[in-house]
Amino acid sequence: MELLKERIRKDGIVREGNVLKVDSFLNHQMDIKLFNEIGKEFKRLFCDTEINKILTVEASGIGIACVTAQYFDVPVVFAKKSKTKNIAGDVYTSKVKSFTHGRIYDVMVSKDFLKPDDKILIIDDFLANGCALLGLADLINQAGAVLQGAGIVIEKGFQVGGREIRKKGIRVESLAIIDEMSTENGIVFRN
Ligand code: 5GP
Repeated sequence: MELLKERIRKDGIVREGNVLKVDSFLNHQMDIKLFNEIGKEFKRLFCDTEINKILTVEASGIGIACVTAQYFDVPVVFAKKSKTKNIAGDVYTSKVKSFTHGRIYDVMVSKDFLKPDDKILIIDDFLANGCALLGLADLINQAGAVLQGAGIVIEKGFQVGGREIRKKGIRVESLAIIDEMSTENGIVFRN
């Protein structure tokens, strides 16, 4: 998605440790016009697929998922990150290793909001090592629901997540794939 790549080139900041900061438009301040274009693009990519729910993870996935959901006309469920099981009733939980913080946390969704007849699209901001996405896929699996695919805004193609997840047969559509990035040479996108 050219508009997104241009924006990453203009406003993305490469940090040590393979971290790309996109706080000015994606995951702190949010450019809603850009989010609308992202939502439209996900709809175009998954227009052939039956989807009745979008699943994401707090916090930075929520805004993108909500805007995208308007194009699919479906509800959004976000997995909560927590050390304590403090949401009411029964929950599905899975463990995720955080890429940005390095620690392990639980993601959880109430059993009320994931059902066996659900056909789910996962939406998230980044795909790096794939732990967040696999955690969400595990929740879907526990519920007996169907994972129809994952829409990722920025995939860091030089990390293992995309390859590993596609190898499992999960459809992943990323709007921008970065093949290389460094503070010296900037960002190289896959065509
Ligand atoms: P993974 O679980 O695939 O290793 O990492 C995905 C999660 O880590 C995303 O949900 C995102 O929040 C965070 N993340 C991974 N890489 C980056 C990055 O380069 N920049 C930012 N801002 N977040 C990242």
